[in-house]
Amino acid sequence: MSHLRLEALTRRFPGAPHPAVDGVSLELGQGALLALLGPSGCGKTTTLRMIAGLEVPDSGRILVQGRDVTALPPHKRNMGVVFQSYALFPHMTAAQNVAFGLEMRGHPRADRAPRVQEALNLVGLGALAARKPRQLSGGQQQRVALARALAPQPDLLLLDEPLSALDAKLREEVRDEIRALQQRLGTTAVFVTHDQTEALAMADLVAVMNEGRIEQLATPEEIFERPATRFVATFVGRAARLAATVTQPGLLRVGDAELRATETPASGAAEIFIRPHHVRPLRDDEGAENTLPATLSRRTYTGDLVTLDCATPAGRLIADLPGGSPGADLRVGDTLRLGFRAADLRVFPA
Ligand code: ADP
Ligand code: MG
Repeated sequence: MSHLRLEALTRRFPGAPHPAVDGVSLELGQGALLALLGPSGCGKTTTLRMIAGLEVPDSGRILVQGRDVTALPPHKRNMGVVFQSYALFPHMTAAQNVAFGLEMRGHPRADRAPRVQEALNLVGLGALAARKPRQLSGGQQQRVALARALAPQPDLLLLDEPLSALDAKLREEVRDEIRALQQRLGTTAVFVTHDQTEALAMADLVAVMNEGRIEQLATPEEIFERPATRFVATFVGRAARLAATVTQPGLLRVGDAELRATETPASGAAEIFIRPHHVRPLRDDEGAENTLPATLSRRTYTGDLVTLDCATPAGRLIADLPGGSPGADLRVGDTLRLGFRAADLRVFPA
């Protein structure tokens, strides 16, 4: 049995032309982390709020361990929620903030203190229990919010962009901590983010959302390597996009060139997506399933990667190379040959 099951969840706000959430269905196994990924306004928060019971769906059902919780108020759902703004009480200590979550759920007073300490220990703040939020850094405040959500040992942990108020370096650190903790405790979790790196790095399963709907629900690897729709291919990762015509299944005409792809529509106008890490300069004697002559128009060095921006008869192609690898020392204006595999082209009807 799935741990969390959403059945055609739909929510339309009064006066809005389209539902904010439009028939979202998914299943999540015990102990897994699902990332809801998508651009601002696509319905991530509304979906999360419906799971938490803070927003009432117009239709659809929410099941946790087979139990229909759709009609239950938030405090009867045993879910822990962490928001972008830490939402801590400024006049209370870290310990009091964590205890408040337990009190709201009716945990008896005597039972609270050890649980509070345990939850603060979990997030590495055991020694700072007596501090007020203003005496804590942003990262520490977010850890208190996480401890507050975890203290009641929730059936489901819900996180809405919990890292977006933190600076880049800290964001990565807290991201890895949340994931490690979630895996160690075996807590099933739903994590909302508009950041693809965050989603790919943390999740067992990613739901890419667009205009209230799930475009693709799959593992991070599948989402990145085999995007199901043009939206997913565009939103997740970088890619060169080429306008093409399918001349026969598996064969495409692109500008003055012909390319092979493992999977194509049967015929007609199409768009090809090629990821930079799939494209590489070929040595003189080297072949590939697809080869194109190219001229280097721009070279960007970022330390671990060198990005070659190339003009080809098929259009503009981008190649990412590890610094120091063959071709990484090419200069603007140099001619080269680019190679890539037929299986690495994603082709969608235009
Ligand atoms: P996301 O979290 O992906 O940015 P939201 O779920 O917050 O998206 O919002 C989805 C859509 O619903 C947006 O168009 C937003 O403006 C609208 N919306 C969200 N909350 C409300 C509300 N309380 N009243 C009216 N419209 C809302
Ligand atoms: Mg949101």
